[in-house]
Amino acid sequence: MIIPVLETCRFNNEIASLRSQRRKNLSLRGGTIATTKQSRTYISYPRDCFGLRPRNDKTMQTQKLIKSKIREIPDWPKKGISFKDITPLLGDKVAFGKTIDLLARPYLGKKVDKVVGIDARGFILAAALAYKLKTGLAIVRKKGKLPAKTVSQEYTLEYASNVLEMHEDAILPGEKVLIVDDVLATGGTMQATINMVKKLKGKIIGVDFLIELTYLSGRKNLKGYKIKSLIQY
Ligand code: AMP
Repeated sequence: MIIPVLETCRFNNEIASLRSQRRKNLSLRGGTIATTKQSRTYISYPRDCFGLRPRNDKTMQTQKLIKSKIREIPDWPKKGISFKDITPLLGDKVAFGKTIDLLARPYLGKKVDKVVGIDARGFILAAALAYKLKTGLAIVRKKGKLPAKTVSQEYTLEYASNVLEMHEDAILPGEKVLIVDDVLATGGTMQATINMVKKLKGKIIGVDFLIELTYLSGRKNLKGYKIKSLIQY
């Protein structure tokens, strides 16, 4: 069958406009996922009928992998707590690397000065992130562990209450700071850390968690900050 030239053009124009509409709807990475060779090899999921791929497919697969490596321990350390054990994730060479890559991604090129890690599992993530982002590392410890002059802040945990401390010179005034912890539960630990970073006049550009327990609504206690979490329960 011969299609008149005019009809073909109209058809092509409609497809082009639908594609551009879909690009906006799917919020593709810079609109390049379906068009560059590099991104074609990066994303290996099927295109939709307009030849486009949703931005988050690969990230979602990685998140699934990461979540599958987090072990849930019911009623630990006390009844009613579902403890999120990240040691299997840390022990997996692929999943751990991908975790750090995903956590770091929003901050690449953002000129972060320091990553702040919270005692104790937060240290592991923060140290790897600091290496990846080429920043310094500052640590938040439980009371009595730091040898030099400290600032301190009381906090409430999902299953305890305590005092956190930082060295006075851990952050210099005006430094751009990213704070990282493994789990956001009630948000008390992070709020205490934020208060200490503010006392030291650090500029908080992000607050990141590997895991967020959304049912505890800890995010509500951290208003005014860019809160990100990779895995949610
Ligand atoms: P919160 O101050 O209530 O947000 O508690 C967060 C801190 O407590 C993080 O440093 C976590 O390491 C730890 N935490 C609280 N709840 C859990 C949980 N269910 N599983 C693992 N760690 C937790």
